Amino acid sequence: MPLDATVHYGERYDNAFWDGTRMVFGDGDGEIFGRFTASLTVISHELTHGFTQYSTNLQYQGQSGALNESLSDVFGVLVEQRELGQEAADASWLVGEGIFADGVQGSALRSLRAPGTAYDDDVLGKDPQPATMTDFVETESDNGGVHINSGIPNHAFYLVASRLGGRAWERVGHIWFDTATGGAVPAECTFAQFAQATAAAARARFGPDSEEAAAVTSAWETVGVDR
Ligand SMILES: [Zn+2]
Repeated sequence: MPLDATVHYGERYDNAFWDGTRMVFGDGDGEIFGRFTASLTVISHELTHGFTQYSTNLQYQGQSGALNESLSDVFGVLVEQRELGQEAADASWLVGEGIFADGVQGSALRSLRAPGTAYDDDVLGKDPQPATMTDFVETESDNGGVHINSGIPNHAFYLVASRLGGRAWERVGHIWFDTATGGAVPAECTFAQFAQATAAAARARFGPDSEEAAAVTSAWETVGVDR
């Protein structure tokens, strides 16, 4: 399909988004954000929303919405890692590195390695993402915390990639891609259902006794998602 994008959207617009048919990027207000096209992970994050819409149709609310956001972050960082030829241990695991204006206290929008640590700024506040279910945020805002609780499945992906080592897009990336395209992710998918689907995808691709299947199971246990 055509990959359409609108750039220089609005005036001093402080965001980027997928509108259902195309990517849209603002130039930022110059005080908090610069242009959103400065980060390959942001561009691939928005593109992945198109992929997710046509492969899973995950509802953009609550846990299924956080999974939708997480898929965009996961494939966002994988695109950058592949472009840079980075192995898991050498990658930043940051989404949106380099889009903050000068003076903002932060390195990026989100961190898959250490959710909750991407920024801590007087104006912007502190990165609110949890890494585990212990710190799951119950909220009405942000469509039920879709950009917040995505830290939990994000960190699970990072843990699998970190344990397996090497190029993340070649092993754990395939597991997540198989999961998204395999038909086992319902529109209102919970974290637990998604965890089961990734474990099944790992067994199907790499075998029931594989290192990959064990890594997936272990990662979800570490972030507190019961299978
Ligand atoms: Zn998004």
